[in-house]
Amino acid sequence: MKDKTGKFWDELETMPGEARKEYLDTRLAEATRHAYQHAPAARKIMDDAGVSPNQINTVKDLAKLPITRKTELIKLQRANPPYGGFLAIPPAEVDRIFLSPGPIYEPIQHAGIAWFAKSFWAAGFRKGDIVANTFTYHLSPAGILFHEALRDCGATAIPMGTGNTESQVITWHDLKVTGFVGTPSFLMTVIKRAEEMGYNFQQDFYVKRAWFTGEMLAPSLRKTFEETYDIHTTQAYAVTETGGALAYECSEKSGLHLMDEYIIEIVDPESGRQLGPGEVGEVVVTPIHNKAWGLIRFGTGDLSAYTTDICPCGRTAHKLTGIMGRTSDAVKIRGMFVVARQAEQVIRDFDQIDRFQFVVERIGQQDKLTLNIELAGETTNTDRLVNDVKARFQSLCRVKIDSVDCVTKGTIETTEPKIVDKRTWE
Ligand SMILES: [Zn+2]
Repeated sequence: MKDKTGKFWDELETMPGEARKEYLDTRLAEATRHAYQHAPAARKIMDDAGVSPNQINTVKDLAKLPITRKTELIKLQRANPPYGGFLAIPPAEVDRIFLSPGPIYEPIQHAGIAWFAKSFWAAGFRKGDIVANTFTYHLSPAGILFHEALRDCGATAIPMGTGNTESQVITWHDLKVTGFVGTPSFLMTVIKRAEEMGYNFQQDFYVKRAWFTGEMLAPSLRKTFEETYDIHTTQAYAVTETGGALAYECSEKSGLHLMDEYIIEIVDPESGRQLGPGEVGEVVVTPIHNKAWGLIRFGTGDLSAYTTDICPCGRTAHKLTGIMGRTSDAVKIRGMFVVARQAEQVIRDFDQIDRFQFVVERIGQQDKLTLNIELAGETTNTDRLVNDVKARFQSLCRVKIDSVDCVTKGTIETTEPKIVDKRTWE
């Protein structure tokens, strides 16, 4: 499987666009039919929507079905334990059962090779690596699934689990650990602890690469790992309820390639409508590799967008542009979602701006977006600053700012939200 172009799974990862569409459509149609036949909850969802499994033949067709969110899944499992009617194979065929907070019980039929080994391979893990896997091995999928995926890449995995910082330091040092799997903040915690214990992390340790998920990787923290500690970093996007990594970074570090084991849609969370490249919406997942789990259109509550740009790494799957926040943090302006975090990212690039706040109003039948700013000091060319901010915001958030107002210092409280929605709907 590990072959000529240096990908883990060349046949899948470099599949031409048309072939991938056909591959995903075919597997989706199979998965939907299987779920309809064997999982009563999936059958009910489709019957209630008036959609027969024969009508789901392409990813586009999925939009005919409603989105199932975590709260509904919990309710369904409580009403009809343990799986809420989503188990789609005989119970004795289940290889393992994971628990996600809720609780949600998730049955897995072991599929042999851990598909997200693609992600660890892209991150550079190979035979000879000794990797501390600091995700929990209890109940949640992360520990054991990542462990198996590391093994599929040939690396040696240490089932460290979470916490116990001091013992992490000693183990990493004694075993000459070369790789880290966990969250960015935990890696930093261990580095700091090692330094407190009198080690020089750069000289006394061998950690060369780190693979992160479960937490945002702040660009500043990434820079510290890479430049100060010489640790190559890669991140992946995983959702526990769907058992594994959904998207993964390649060496380009500019977005996360979608895994071919899921159908991943970006949708308007209110209507369920599928959105196009660059549009921000909710990540909705349908697993097509796990026959045990008849879950269709699971709404993650995470916000992202995707790009169809060609990636220089040679992988052909579309890329998520990163997770921008939760659906609850987003405001819809003229049909587009604007996420507070993303808006903040735009403004933080302008040193001349001290404090800021976006205000959305409804004037007539139109949304109006105003940006109030407090300047850090004397700015000689305010017009130019305003134009630059507007242009940058529109290119990143795809929504036009109608007006930028410079307000006097102290007008905006730091405790106030970054986006205020003043619209009323009657
Ligand atoms: Zn790539």
